[in-house]
Amino acid sequence: MDLLEYKGKHVLARYGVALFKGKEASTVDEAVAACDEIGYPVVVKAQVKIGGRGKAGGIKIAENADEAREYATNILGMDIRGHVVHELWLQEATDIDSEYYAAIVFDRSAKAPLVMLSTQGGMEIEQVAAEHPEALATLHVDPLVGFQAYQARRLCFEAGVEADVVRQVGDMIATLYEVFTKEEATLVEINPMVVTPARRVVALDAKVTLDDNSMFRHPDNAHLDDSTDADPQETMAKERGLTYVKLDGDIGIFGNGAGLVMSTLDVVAAAGGAPANFLDAGGGAKAEAIVASVEVILSNPNVKAVLFNVFGGITRCDEVARGLIEAYGILQPTVPFVVRLDGTNDVEARKLLADAALPNVFAEKTMDGAAARVVELAKS
Ligand code: GDP
Ligand code: MN
Repeated sequence: MDLLEYKGKHVLARYGVALFKGKEASTVDEAVAACDEIGYPVVVKAQVKIGGRGKAGGIKIAENADEAREYATNILGMDIRGHVVHELWLQEATDIDSEYYAAIVFDRSAKAPLVMLSTQGGMEIEQVAAEHPEALATLHVDPLVGFQAYQARRLCFEAGVEADVVRQVGDMIATLYEVFTKEEATLVEINPMVVTPARRVVALDAKVTLDDNSMFRHPDNAHLDDSTDADPQETMAKERGLTYVKLDGDIGIFGNGAGLVMSTLDVVAAAGGAPANFLDAGGGAKAEAIVASVEVILSNPNVKAVLFNVFGGITRCDEVARGLIEAYGILQPTVPFVVRLDGTNDVEARKLLADAALPNVFAEKTMDGAAARVVELAKS
């Protein structure tokens, strides 16, 4: 779950990370009132989950209430590379001596958090890594030992942090590491971390991603989830407790077990098709879950054909067939279905489907045959 800047800052504030005074708003009047309260100059910041807002015109410094009104009006509703602005963050403006970059990400290949620090903040980190690799200091943290003070000093030294702020930068990174581990984040990025003329180190921007799989341990973070710009199919699937990921293609996929669904995607791609989704109904899926799955798959308007690929183990094929028949009755799909059922109770399942004689449902014996068939049907 990616957090909007201001929600990320609310999390950072709980740990005492140095931040500028700010307030969120979702209407122009609220925004102007917030600016008046903060005191001018104020930065009006578009809240969208994409970087480079500054360059896109989504960040403006207002010197007075008239400008605050003008900028809030322009920025609310603005489309920043496909992300519509529904909320603003109003923040006391600052003068800047230096812009640094600090981030903690989870490095899966190293099985450890990776801390990065650079004195070239403000620009995209990919660009820093490409153009000034010497300006980017990195190190892994042993998760059992935690982030150590000497590591902070080493990062600051290697990145070339100005001597008078080394202590503050190190302390902030240590706090960010605490946020990263305690909140179970997969990313905490501060770009830029600024040094003010008064030589204060403050997080000017914040990008926090929390691990969705740990959300059950953090019920107090549930309110940080804003599904306003989430994909409608993914939202629907989540509400129904399904494991669903939307993809770009036109072939709806239903399978049981993540491994089988992954191979189904590969086989469809190898047959020249493009899957519209990943959907794993899990082991022991009951008719109800199948109806819900079909509903989610078909709610994607790109879907031209659907492939049901089920290997019965704990999941009984007859139960899947019943679910599909029920889904047909309720949803009356207009796109063709190709069904491959193999394993536990497959004979009964095929008989159920044959007796139901659903229009536009084609049974196939093998996974390859089913993939070829569904690709052909999606193209015709
Ligand atoms: P992003 O472009 O989406 O990453 O948004 P940021 O919050 O990082 O802001 C982009 C840039 O705007 C920063 O790197 C700063 O250069 C500038 N900026 C943002 N807030 C202030 C401010 O209070 N004062 C000044 N002088 N510049 C700011
Ligand atoms: Mn930024």
